[in-house]
This record gives sequence, structure tokens and C-alpha cells, in this order.
Amino acid sequence: MLTELGVESLEALAAQAVPGSILDAAPGYGLGASAEREFPWGQAEHEVLDQLTKLAGENTVAVSMIGLGYYDTITPTVLRRALVENPAWYTAYTPYQPEISQGRLEALLNFQTMVSDLTGQEIANASMLDEATAAAEAMTLLRRASKSKSDRLVVDADLYPQTRAVLETRAEPLGIELFEADLAKGEEGLPPGDFFGVILQQFGASGKRLPVKDIVAAAHGREALVAVGTDLLAATLVAPPGELGAEVCYGSAQRFGVPLGFGGPHAGFLATKQTHARQLPGRLVGVSVDADGQPAYRLALQTREQHIRRERATSNICTAQVLLAILAAMYASYHGPDGLKAIARRAHGHAETIAASLGDALVHDQYFDTVLARVPGRAEAVVAAAKRSGINLRLVDADHVSVSCDEATTEAHVAAVLDAFGVAQAEPRCAEVADRTSPYLTHPSFNRYHSETAMLRYLRELSDKDIALDRSMIPLGSCTMKLNAAAEMEPISYAGFAGIHPFAPEADTVGYRAMIKGLEDELAFITGYDRVSLQPNAGSQGEFAGLLAIREYHRSRNEPHRDVCLIPSSAHGTNAASAVMAGLRVVVVACRENGDVDLDDLKAKLEVHGEKLAAIMITYPSTHGVYEVQVKELCGLVHDAGGQVYIDGANLNALVGLARPGHFGGDVSHLNLHKTFCIPHGGGGPGVGPVAVREHLAPFLPGHPLRPELGDGRPVSAAPFGSASILPISWAYVRLMGFEGLRRATLVAIASANYLAKRLDQHFPVLFTGANGLVAHECILDLRQITKETGVTAEDVAKRLADYGFHAPTLSFPVSGTLMVEPTESESLEELEAFVAAMTAIKGEIDQVARGVWTAEESPLRGAPHTARAVTADAWDRKYSREVAAYPKVATARPRPKVWPGSARIDGVAGDRNLVCSCPPLEAYAE
Ligand SMILES: *Cc1c(COP(=O)(O)O)cnc(C)c1O
Repeated sequence: MLTELGVESLEALAAQAVPGSILDAAPGYGLGASAEREFPWGQAEHEVLDQLTKLAGENTVAVSMIGLGYYDTITPTVLRRALVENPAWYTAYTPYQPEISQGRLEALLNFQTMVSDLTGQEIANASMLDEATAAAEAMTLLRRASKSKSDRLVVDADLYPQTRAVLETRAEPLGIELFEADLAKGEEGLPPGDFFGVILQQFGASGKRLPVKDIVAAAHGREALVAVGTDLLAATLVAPPGELGAEVCYGSAQRFGVPLGFGGPHAGFLATKQTHARQLPGRLVGVSVDADGQPAYRLALQTREQHIRRERATSNICTAQVLLAILAAMYASYHGPDGLKAIARRAHGHAETIAASLGDALVHDQYFDTVLARVPGRAEAVVAAAKRSGINLRLVDADHVSVSCDEATTEAHVAAVLDAFGVAQAEPRCAEVADRTSPYLTHPSFNRYHSETAMLRYLRELSDKDIALDRSMIPLGSCTMKLNAAAEMEPISYAGFAGIHPFAPEADTVGYRAMIKGLEDELAFITGYDRVSLQPNAGSQGEFAGLLAIREYHRSRNEPHRDVCLIPSSAHGTNAASAVMAGLRVVVVACRENGDVDLDDLKAKLEVHGEKLAAIMITYPSTHGVYEVQVKELCGLVHDAGGQVYIDGANLNALVGLARPGHFGGDVSHLNLHKTFCIPHGGGGPGVGPVAVREHLAPFLPGHPLRPELGDGRPVSAAPFGSASILPISWAYVRLMGFEGLRRATLVAIASANYLAKRLDQHFPVLFTGANGLVAHECILDLRQITKETGVTAEDVAKRLADYGFHAPTLSFPVSGTLMVEPTESESLEELEAFVAAMTAIKGEIDQVARGVWTAEESPLRGAPHTARAVTADAWDRKYSREVAAYPKVATARPRPKVWPGSARIDGVAGDRNLVCSCPPLEAYAE
């Protein structure tokens, strides 16, 4: 590769590609001297795994009866091994290329069907980041959908404290005022005056059931809409809020087989009426048809909504919780409606026993799984006694304790809890909560796979339709689809990491906190910032947290009027959406012809907005895949105008070990651990989006109502440390690599991208380059001229790549009509060459269109991708042979394994016109 690039060494390449002004000059940095001494050296896999085993062992896996939205659950072993621990599932990318993503799209449609069935709603998305952010999205959905002019939202007092806190975080910058009310009183609990919506939980934090139907009726009488926190397990027994008239149901699917994991990752959900479908944030899978006339799935409507609508987007959510949503859906498929109901009855039965035994200490008798006890002055003693039996209860206050039962609760646990209370076991009184009459999960998806054999084959059937990293490189620009090493993945299944409740006592989480502290420090060192918070559950949430910190900083300095956020036109769509959520006004800065931020336009904008400037938000290297030379100057200009510099760190794979955003001008960045630090994409989540800041912004990092030691910052996630259980992946990566290894990975990533740019430029011109004609870690291939001359589009090339066994690059971001290629350091020269060969062969096909052999319409490019069904059908009336369709000639060292796309080209528009977002009736699948 270096020969092709005409350089002596990786270092020489970096010296040419990366501006000298930002290259880190810390003494000995990267050379094994002083600065590195504190940084872990690269270690062998077995050594790193030993350390993680030890850290997991320092956590105490107790019986969790704390509740508050997190419940112990039993992950069926077949799902753990064949789904969660299966690279065919966890290394997949977000299904933007639906033809090679039918497997996970079907699984997500099952998730949507499961949620809408159980909540009694018409439509559900797939998925939200957690329950608290789902509640926040419910809040903004109500506001958009409501006819009321009021800015007031009524919030029930018995909401989970973390949900309440995240609502506050998200409400304040938008000018929404929260009004706390006691809705257990029904209509009487509603305040006088106007309000646009009401949020409550069907079962409150205390476990008490609220009169949802009465509250909905009363709210509707006041022209307000209602969102209800819904427990999916309870919904198998009780009439769900959707049937009681609530416009929105939100919640978490955690207790459907997803381990506690010290708070995450888990799939949140949001469900509503069909009339609000276009207001629904996040991703929505819908059914459409493909070119063979077969039903096919694809992301509907707002697929990349923030990209298209930017500051007018309904939300900033991008990466969601796909793998966890699929796990929850498969749990429902495995157990089926009767199995789920049996689990619910068992949990409820244990709660009934505890309630009956508590006698007069029982506070309310309207519960599902959580019982609240009044034990004046004795609460701490009761909790301590249970702890001695290995059980964590929730200490509500000095006089109250609550106990939550779940799938994992046993009679022995119940006996120990009663012992702790010092009461004898009584016969359960039947508290009649089971008032659900409507059927649910009747679709075959939830009734066919109850045996392990059937489930195993279903999972294989689905994953065989998809291209994940276990089949091919996934050259997605901006997304850094690199190796997710098995050794990094293994520890997330350790009980010492998986089995911990997010609100477990401090003494139970010693290992976790040591691991988290270690990772925070290493990320701070790598980025050159002073402090890191791992709380945000995706890049988008890191952006929001970082911009909020900037806003609070200006306010703390008596400059609350600074509310303008400058964003270059090339920015990722989440940037603008996050700025609006943080209460900032977006002003776009132009880019020059060569792709760089236009400094003259920046100066002009600073001139106009100087006094009002809050921040600039740039990506570095830019989303154009280029190290902009004037970045330091740009940061200086913004600082001189009193603004803060936010550097979107999604492209950190081009910087680690070479340059540190905290040193070359950034005040704050978010990172994407699911891009640069090896957490797999999971088919569209989970993610972790840490926010890193310089010292002056540290006081404004996210806090948490149940972890006062995190400071008074506002939380952005339900769990104090976000998706804690996947942090061992990044922790292991850093240790396996050591600083030298991380640096070398960056150098190889830059070399690979430049190699591909050089090899492909003759066929597909590379749009932007920086110093010395080099790119950073990715490159944009410009197809616009080709499209103009031949009619063949970038999309045609993306689809045709599937016939060659490749996943497409990023399509039309950041520039429409282009493909952005990022090979990463993980791909071998042989794989890069195979990709070049496929792209070269595709160019040959385009040339045939140019020569008039085929029109674009008739060509295999437009006909792509080709399914086995299409090429083996008796009828074949295309202008090219079946062999060209399915086994096109390509000059590779060895034949590439054939991948058969799950569907032919999908008609997205037809699906949007007739929106179907849950499992269609079986007739739809007939011939
Ligand atoms: C991926 C990405 C984001 C958003 O991150 P998510 O984890 O998907 O929310 C933001 N900015 C850029 C440049 C990105 O590539």
C-alpha cells in the first residue's frame, strides 16, 4: 500500500496527511516515554480477560428487587448464544440497505408488533435509547400533536425519579414547564389552567396502579393529550393504556430477556396512534414490495429524518437499540403470549404473597409486581436484613421499603424478604389486576418458535439474509465498521457485569466503578480533555449533553443571551437537531468548493452574531473525510468571539494517537465508542456516546438523581453510567492495543483509506482531498458526473455491490449523489483489493451503459440486487444474462462467497404511501 502511495512509511504518510499544527507534540507522546507511562501497554487477550474477570468478581451479583424500571429477567440460553453472542447479529449495521438487511428488519417488525399489541396502540417504533429518553420523546410528541397553546406538561408525582429528571433536562431548553401533580387522585389531581399534555405511569414508582382511564378522559376534557409509561409484562394481564385512550405509550423492553447490565443497554419504546405516525421520532420499519413483487421490509418515512430535516427534525436520535429490541422481540417469540402471561402471573403471585404477609404495613393494594411497605423507623434495618440474605430492596425513605418481583423471583427469595420484614408468610389475597380482555401476539411470529430447535433455525434463517461484518467488509464512511474482537465481546456476558441493577448499593459495584473510572481516564488522555462522562447512550445524546454544558456555562457567566450555534453545511444531521434540543439557534456556515469550512463566511457570521455566539460545532476530520488545515485558526476565531468549540468526535478513528481535539482547540467533544472503540453496531445500536470536556465545562457534565456523587449536572439518560455493561468492550480494546497499538491502528486506517482513494479515483473521482492530495480515514467517491452522462446513480452502484457480495458504502452523505468509503484498519489488503475489483467491474458495466449496450434502465445496475428467485425463475427477459446478474466476472484472487440478497430492489415510496408497520397478516406472504 505504501508503495502505491509513494511513501516510505506510515509515519511519513501521516506527516503528509495530518496538518503539523495539530499533530501532538507532547514530550514523548506516542514514543513510549513519560506521557505514556500511565497509559496501559498492549497486553495479550488472556491477560486482559483475566483482569476483566477480576473486575467482574469485585461486583456483587445480588437478587435485585429494587425495581424502578429495571427487573431481573432470564435470557433464554439459545438467545444468548445464537443472537447476543453471534457476530452475524451483533456486527450488522443499521439497515439503510434493506435488500441485504431483511433478517433484522423482520426481527424489528416483530418488535414493533409486540410493542403495539401489548400497549394497545396502532404503531410503535424500533427503538428508543431507554425509558427516560422515550418519556422525553413522548413529551415532545404530545406537544407537536396537541392543539393546546400551553407550554405546561402535567407530570405525575409517582414517576420514576430518573424519568422525571430526564424530562426536566429536556423540557427546560424547549421552554416546557413541568407541573407536578398527584394523579392517583384521578381527575382531582389535575391542576387548574391550561396544559398541553399529561405524563404518568400505569404503575408508579411506588408500584401503585393509577386510574389511567379516568385521567385520560379528564385530560381530554381539558384538550390535553396523554402519554403513559407502560410495563410490557404487566400489559399481558392488565388493560393497556392504548386501550384506555392514551395517545402515547412509552417504556422499556428490558425485562423481556435483556440483562440488567448496571443500567443498559436496553431498548426503550414509543407507541402511538396511526394519526401521529408522522410525528413519531426514531426509526420505523414498514412493509413494502420489491421489484420481484414480493413483500419486503425497509425503514419507513423518517428513516434518516435528522439528516433531511436537520434543525426541524422531531428528534436527534440516530443510533438506537436495535440488538436489544431484537432480543426482546425474540424473547416474546420464544415464550409466546401464554408463556409471557405465565411469567407475569408468577411475578404478580409473588407480589401478592408479600402484600398479604405485610398486613397493615401494606401501603396500597393496587399493584402488579411492586409492593410498598410502611415500616416506621425501620426501613434501613429491613433493607439491611434483606441484604444479609443477598437481596437488594429499595429504601424509599426512613419509613418505607419497596419490593419488586420479577421473572427471576423464587419462593425462597420471597421467604427471605418476609424474614427481613419480620413477618410470617400469609395466604395471598387475590388483588384483581388481571382485567385485560383483548388478545395479543396472535401473529405466527409469536407462536411458531417456542422450541429451541425452531428458534435456533429462525435466528439462522434471518441472519442468513443479511450482510454483517462476518461476511464482508462494510465500508461505511463516518461509521467506522471495524473489528469487534471476540475477546472484547466475551466479558459482557459475565454475570458480574450482566447481573447488576443500576441502583445497586455502592458496595456492590466496586469493579464496575473501577472499570468506568479507568476508561474515562484513558479516553480523557486520548482526546486531550480533562473529564469524560460515559452516560450518553449514543453519539446524538453526547452531542446534546455537550451542547447543554456549553449553554449552562454561558449562563453561569451571566451570558444567557449566547444562544447561536454555528454549524457548517456539511455537518451530520444530528448536530443541528441536538442544538435545537439544547435551546440553541442554528446558523449555517458555508463550505468552500474544496469542502473546507469557509473562513470568510465564518468571519461574516461571527461579525453578525458575535455577542450572541454560544458555540461552533464542527466535525474533525470533517465529514468530507479531510483534515482541514485551518482548524486551529477556526477555533481561535470562535474563542475570540466568546464562543465555545464543539468538535464532533465521530471521526476520531483518524486522530487517536496522532492529535487530540482537546489540545487543538476543542472545549468539548463526544466520541462514538460504537465507531472508534469497537462496540459493535448491533444492526443500529447499542451505542455509547461519551462526552469529553475541558475543565471549565466539567461542572456541567451529566449527573443523576440517584447518584449524587456525579455532581449537580442534569442527566441525559435513565442510568447513571448509561450502557455500562458494554463498556468492557472498549476497556478491553484500549488495553489490548496499548497506546502504540491505538496509534498504529490510526495510521493503518489512514493508509487504507488513501490506498482505496488512489485505486478508485480513476473510476470514481475522489471528491475532496486535503494537504498533498491526501484524505483522512475515509473518502467520498463522486458519481454525479457519471449519473449525468449515463443515468446510473450512486444508489444503483450501492445495490449492485450486493451482487458482488459487498455491503454498500455510505450513500449520499454528506454529499448527495456520492458514496463515502471508510475501510478502517481492520481490513486486509486482500479484502481491499476485492472491493477495488468489484468497483472496477461495476465501472465496466457503467461503461457499457455509456456505450449504449444497455440503457441504465435495462442494465444489471438498475436490476440490482438480484435474488435467487429472480435468476432461477423460468422466465428471464432481461437484456443481460443470468450469470451477469448473479455471478458477475470480477478479477479477485479467489472467488468471493456468494451472498443472495433477501429481496430485490425495494420500492420505498409505495410503502410510505400505504404505511404498514406491524406484522402483516399471513395472506400478504402468499405468492
Ligand atoms: C454517527 C455520527 C453521529 C451520531 O452518532 P449516533 O451514535 O448515531 O447517535 C454524529 N456525528 C457524526 C459525524 C457521525 O458520524
